[in-house]
Amino acid sequence: MSKVTLEKVAKVYSNGFKAVHDIDLEIQDGEFMVMIGPSGCAKSTTLRMLAGLETISGGNVRIGKDVVNNLAPKDRGIAMVFQNYALYPHMTVRENLGFGLKLAKVPADQIEKQVDEAAEMLELTPLMDRLPRQLSGGQAQRVAVGRAIVKRPNVFLFDEPLSNLDAKLRASMRVRISDLHKQLKSSNRSATTVYVTHDQTEAMTMGDRICVMKEGVIMQVDTPANLYKYP
Ligand code: ADP
Ligand code: ADP
Repeated sequence: MSKVTLEKVAKVYSNGFKAVHDIDLEIQDGEFMVMIGPSGCAKSTTLRMLAGLETISGGNVRIGKDVVNNLAPKDRGIAMVFQNYALYPHMTVRENLGFGLKLAKVPADQIEKQVDEAAEMLELTPLMDRLPRQLSGGQAQRVAVGRAIVKRPNVFLFDEPLSNLDAKLRASMRVRISDLHKQLKSSNRSATTVYVTHDQTEAMTMGDRICVMKEGVIMQVDTPANLYKYP
């Protein structure tokens, strides 16, 4: 089970600023939840608290049934994809994909299996021997997503992963990430996703539900169809 639950979660930064005000949110097992809102509304702070990259000042974060407030990021069963996809420049695509598993001392044959599977899902197989500087922006972002998939996490966290790409690449990556989510679900793999963006098109086309934030509170949580009704 990889349901994610925020119970009265708050964040007060060390300068006394209260960035997040006791928010409640349930993300169901397998759900693709988009968090949207203007710059400064605390999307990133909330995601970082889920990831364990930021301490929480009050409330509980649960992954499955477990309260994970005090767990290190690596012990939460999560994988995070950032806007700056920081690939290791001296490693090939294959080595970039497998590096995290190697650090975790996963056996080599298992690494190969998981890396090949992720590469296939993201159509990276023909690019496996390339170095990052030989990749386009979209290809590099696919490798970054691939690095998250190979870990077989319970929960995927995305922090504005497409905002550095041009409009055309953003459009194709939206489809790829949505397809990947469907593929993971249909093969009974964990697919619970929290996806932060300020882009309404991403929210509408990718989210099962959308959580709208403003100034550290949740304004609304609903499906795209209910949130965006056209005349
Ligand atoms: P913490 O509460 O995590 O100790 P700090 O006040 O020490 O936070 O700041 C951590 C980092 O966040 C620093 O690099 C700082 O420059 C940056 N930072 C501080 N205030 C803000 C702010 N209002 N918005 C964005 N970043 C900030
Ligand atoms: P978003 O991701 O929605 O743009 P953030 O989570 O980065 O918003 O920031 C939420 C609020 O918290 C902003 O007002 C920001 O200035 C403030 N903030 C972020 N980091 C820090 C920090 N380290 N110290 C103090 N305030 C911060």
